[in-house]
Amino acid sequence: MEEKSNYPIWHPYTQMQTADFPIEIASAKGAKLYAADGRVFIDAISSWWTNIHGHSHPYIAQKIAEQAASLEQVIFAGFTHRPAVDLANRLLEKLPYHDKVFYSDNGSTAVEAALKMALQFWSNKGTPRTKIIAFSDAYHGDTFGSMSVSARCVFNAPYSRLLFDVEFIDAPYPGNEQKSMAQLEQVLREQKDDIAAFIFEPLVLGSAGMKMYSASALDKLLQLCQANNVLTIADEVFTGFGRTGTFMAMEQCVLKPDITCLSKGITGGFMPFAATLCTQEIYEAFLSDEKAKMLLHGHSYTGNPLGCAAALASLDLFEQEQTMQRIAQIAKWHQAFYEKIKQHKSVLDIRQTGTILAIELRSNAPSGYLNRLSQKVTPFFLDKGVLIRPLGNVIYILPPYCVSNEEMSQVYSAINAFLEDYSD
Ligand code: PMP
Repeated sequence: MEEKSNYPIWHPYTQMQTADFPIEIASAKGAKLYAADGRVFIDAISSWWTNIHGHSHPYIAQKIAEQAASLEQVIFAGFTHRPAVDLANRLLEKLPYHDKVFYSDNGSTAVEAALKMALQFWSNKGTPRTKIIAFSDAYHGDTFGSMSVSARCVFNAPYSRLLFDVEFIDAPYPGNEQKSMAQLEQVLREQKDDIAAFIFEPLVLGSAGMKMYSASALDKLLQLCQANNVLTIADEVFTGFGRTGTFMAMEQCVLKPDITCLSKGITGGFMPFAATLCTQEIYEAFLSDEKAKMLLHGHSYTGNPLGCAAALASLDLFEQEQTMQRIAQIAKWHQAFYEKIKQHKSVLDIRQTGTILAIELRSNAPSGYLNRLSQKVTPFFLDKGVLIRPLGNVIYILPPYCVSNEEMSQVYSAINAFLEDYSD
């Protein structure tokens, strides 16, 4: 590989001046990444939370190859194709509270489409509304709309003046449920007729540091929104496809959202792809003799057939490989490890939902993404053959669902070793 000075790539979320030279991965199989220099890493974070059934799964690879040999891409306005229709039907079977599927190509665009659907829904009805409610430490993506509905923080500080106004409420974390409800009540009381939608990450706020809250607390917020005629948008980009123990996180709630954003695991982690699902009522607000009332949104690769083929194959694997049972097994392993380390002196907080286990470490520096700990953690774990990329002082693991007992034991013992070694 090139020297650092003539390396041609600018990497995401990477301070190129100080970051270590990126590790070249030559291949990956199951839960393991194989580096070009011979090192092997267990992918304990599923490659930025995308991988579901394991890397290079032969069934998904084969389905993509077959699709590529017959139809790789086609304009998705005025044209359609079998994999797109089949996938929409299968997604709607899994999320029966929705009626239509709008495709795009990453989590941020799934959120952009959702926000535009909600805002234009009201505009098309002749009662325009301009405000969105979001959680104050949410993360919904890196495009301007999705940044606007995300926490105002280090991720978007340089552009903060260009972000649109949002009504932020605190997430209903344990002990904070009443405050969150009171804030929502106040926003609705003061601005009810201008609130288009409430967007939220169900059960787990991922980028905020894997912060978790209960389904019943979310139900209460949703009930209030629905009673006040405010649309609800579940951003399941991270939580979807089994991560939280159920196929969708929203299955754990009684109430259901008007719109759902899906990406990341949708293709099993093989292809950039996304979908925004909505109800018939929302869809119908866009039907008109006036062309201008159509949803004014689309991307070149919308509905890409290779993405659809990968997503269909991933759904097949959920059945063929009894993926939900594997997810339950990972949750059990996590719970046992949780019990073992919860009293450790270095552990400030530990939380678990489904396949996600997060350990917040005691630190003298403020918690958060820029906490200096992150520079220590990744190299320590790489040395032990485990890929972990912390969020500030929060170490978390969420493995591909094919991970073996032995691989998980290696991950847990690496965490144990880190806790024993740790001081800040
Ligand atoms: N929503 C949530 C909840 C996310 O966690 C992410 C990415 N981490 C996104 C949206 C944005 O997805 P993408 O990175 O594919 O744009």
